[in-house]
Amino acid sequence: MNRYFPATLAVDLDAIDHNFQQVADHLNGQKVMAIVKANAYGHGREAVARQALASGADYLGVAQIGEAIQLREALSDLTPQPRITAWVITPDVDFIEVLEAHIEVSIGAFWSLEALARAAAELGVCAPIHIEVDTGMARGGFAISDARQAFERAHRLEREGHIRVVGLWSHLARADELDAAGRDFTSVQVASFERLRAQAAAAGLDIELHHLAASSGVFWHPEALYDMVRPGAVLYGISPNTRVASASELNLRAAMQFSASVMQVRDVPAGTGISYGHTAVVDHAAHIAVIPVGYADGIPRHASNCGPVTISGQRTHVLGRVCMDQFMVQTQPEVKEGDRAVLFGDAHDGYATADDWADLSGTIGYEVTTALSLRIPRVYYRSKHGTEPLKYPRATRLH
Ligand SMILES: *Cc1c(COP(=O)(O)O)cnc(C)c1O
Repeated sequence: MNRYFPATLAVDLDAIDHNFQQVADHLNGQKVMAIVKANAYGHGREAVARQALASGADYLGVAQIGEAIQLREALSDLTPQPRITAWVITPDVDFIEVLEAHIEVSIGAFWSLEALARAAAELGVCAPIHIEVDTGMARGGFAISDARQAFERAHRLEREGHIRVVGLWSHLARADELDAAGRDFTSVQVASFERLRAQAAAAGLDIELHHLAASSGVFWHPEALYDMVRPGAVLYGISPNTRVASASELNLRAAMQFSASVMQVRDVPAGTGISYGHTAVVDHAAHIAVIPVGYADGIPRHASNCGPVTISGQRTHVLGRVCMDQFMVQTQPEVKEGDRAVLFGDAHDGYATADDWADLSGTIGYEVTTALSLRIPRVYYRSKHGTEPLKYPRATRLH
């Protein structure tokens, strides 16, 4: 780790637990697959996975096979071993390794179904799989028109003892849109999923887990919960759609606080141009603080002249363009080098959120946290147990 890295991501594991309980409040008996892909949305895969399991998760879900294998290794001390699934499978994947790592792989194509069954036969094991059918993303999974054939083939392979279909799943494309168009499309997907479920049963498959809902499904589509849900964003306190409801309105707490140490302050006269291109010019004499993180750390360059920052309880914003490793803010005269600048954290603490940064820079909270560079140190703490991420004043004044 870079000991002198000038910024920190403090992750509150109790916030993740709190958010997990909010998910649980929407369920009645469904299992939960905690989604920890992309380094747990930037929060740190292993720590989040351990917390999610402690909070009650039944499964861990990642996108890539490599992530699943790394997760299995990282959690090798746990008994029982968690169930782990992954759904990004490419032809270079070594299915022997997948089976040795006990990954319940998602199968959405005939080639991977056959390759996995061959690997299972070679190892003399029975491979648990989740069949993915595309009901409206045009992303991974069998086409609906291929589903019957896929179910029949899977059933034959089951009888030969090479695979066992434990899951049937799909993914909702518009579950975060609660207007008529969004609701209509979600209904179409749910109806398709119902037909697939019947088709799979008719093909002789006895499937334990049907799963369709991610965060927005959990909160906004009770008809889509089935046997298991796959929340990601909400576990981190990120809203699936801030135009529908903010994370606070959903009673979620942002798990990540991003802060940096003020590197330099300077007083500049009226008319001074700030940063590349002088897209900001101060009208009056101003006290400027230099914050030593930039787009190399994943700060959106689209947050130039708008990204909100809190220093000593005062809300300010990025002034001028975000540079690669630094940006500037205008701040109060008493702010000095070494003061802590909070870029985002939890709204209840008075901070701007990753969702706010996203709204202002034309993206979503998911992208803001997943884009944060791995070079920023992650530290973990528990707010319920009175530990604070770092010693600096909470925000007291908002504007
Ligand atoms: C990312 C993802 C999820 C989690 O989505 P959120 O909106 O973050 O809850 C669930 N399932 C699949 C297949 C995904 O790709």
